[in-house]
Amino acid sequence: MKDMNWYAEQEARIPKGGTRTRFAPSPTGYMHVGNLRTALYTWLIARNKGGKFILRIEDTDQERYVDGAVEVIYRTLAECGLDHDEGPDVGGPVGPYIQTERRGLYKEYADLLIEKGCAYRCFCEKSDAEGEGFEKAADPCRSLSRVESDERAASGEAYVIRQKIPEGGTTTFHDEIFGDITVENSTLDDQVLIKRDGLPTYNFANVIDDHLMGITHVVRGSEYLSSAPKYDLLYRSFGWDVPAYVHCSPVMRDAHNKMSKRHGDPSYEDLIAQGYLTDAVVNYVALLGWSPGGEREIFSLPELAEVFEIKGISKSPAIFDVEKLKYFNSEYIRAMSPEDFAAAAEPFIRQAVKKPDIDPAAIAALLQQRTEVLSDIPEKLDFFDELPDYDTSLYVHKKSKTDEAGSLEMLNRMLPVFEAIEDWSDESILGAMTDMAAQCECKNAKVMWPVRIAVAGKAVTPGGAVEICRILGKDETLRRIRIGAEKLSK
Ligand code: GLU
Repeated sequence: MKDMNWYAEQEARIPKGGTRTRFAPSPTGYMHVGNLRTALYTWLIARNKGGKFILRIEDTDQERYVDGAVEVIYRTLAECGLDHDEGPDVGGPVGPYIQTERRGLYKEYADLLIEKGCAYRCFCEKSDAEGEGFEKAADPCRSLSRVESDERAASGEAYVIRQKIPEGGTTTFHDEIFGDITVENSTLDDQVLIKRDGLPTYNFANVIDDHLMGITHVVRGSEYLSSAPKYDLLYRSFGWDVPAYVHCSPVMRDAHNKMSKRHGDPSYEDLIAQGYLTDAVVNYVALLGWSPGGEREIFSLPELAEVFEIKGISKSPAIFDVEKLKYFNSEYIRAMSPEDFAAAAEPFIRQAVKKPDIDPAAIAALLQQRTEVLSDIPEKLDFFDELPDYDTSLYVHKKSKTDEAGSLEMLNRMLPVFEAIEDWSDESILGAMTDMAAQCECKNAKVMWPVRIAVAGKAVTPGGAVEICRILGKDETLRRIRIGAEKLSK
């Protein structure tokens, strides 16, 4: 153990004043929607109060470490706009916050607890099991004398360090969402703080780090609620202030199951690959278990930071509803500028439309008002590069009283008219068709329906006959109308 000056120096370095929150993910490879929500709430609490948001990578469980996982975390946070104030990449007064790089610290604090009589070395073989099902009364090491314990440690015998939970009484802690919770100390196990390899358990490292980083609000999943009394006892053993706890209920895939990678539930990156927009995902995730109170649902990130309050977080689990996310996504798509939408949609348009002379921005303009998810785009555009092999029964349209014979006649009439157009634009194409309708004393649809079927080979298309003809160009339009006429005359 270090001398007391060393501990005093650590204390003196703790940033003080203002709200300080931290997101403390373990790099296990996947930023699921629940993780993103925890990060978001943590960031919002800090930003709402003009405080600091800290990122800490909790990598002491080396068995669960996945290569590249840290990058996924950084990328996801950066894309979502959840910027952090201190941390390995941005520096700061007390970085870096990679737990394995701070490993020396934790053992010193565990030794301090031994000194205070609030922890003890456990030499038992079973101690490797991290205390699961461990009976404190049954462990002989709990009552070892300090002298014997020191001697065995000095002789090189392996040990773990366990928290010494009081035998009787109760522990009460406060959670901002769940209120006061009291547990019998007899139900708490003497959890392992330092493992045989000298590394801290998550349960210990989080308390030390939250204290040394001056964290005022600890936001995490409610699965940690059952451990919170043990954390509380640790803070008290050290004589430290306890931060405000904000335990958030899980995000569920349905009424019974949490969202999980194992069940194929999407991560943030999966959602983006599926064509959801970051802003829509962030907005939707914010409302998964938090309510601003009121009807309004659409909030930008800065707007969320302005209105976010811990008291709006719900105790009940939230269910991830992909239909609701689609609704948010379509709202965000509609609100984009045409240029931004064209840029976002282009890769999806190009999956279906490879012809270089077709302008993706022209197609994007047809899609913006009716797209929910960008990945829906390619299948809507399957007729641009190649005319599908369609059935002539498509020409039958009850509403406009169009049949196959009428369609054939109309296509034959339109051919020379289209051929004569010099400036191939929406106005001239539309003008040609409405003039034809006037000439035939029929509704416009009687002209436009057969043209649309001929050029698209399908009845449901983004945009109508005019836009499709314009985008295809004059030559391709004429070619397809001839094919239509030929099909109908067989
Ligand atoms: N490393 C923990 C996890 O990823 C974080 C828990 C906490 O925020 O304290 O679940």
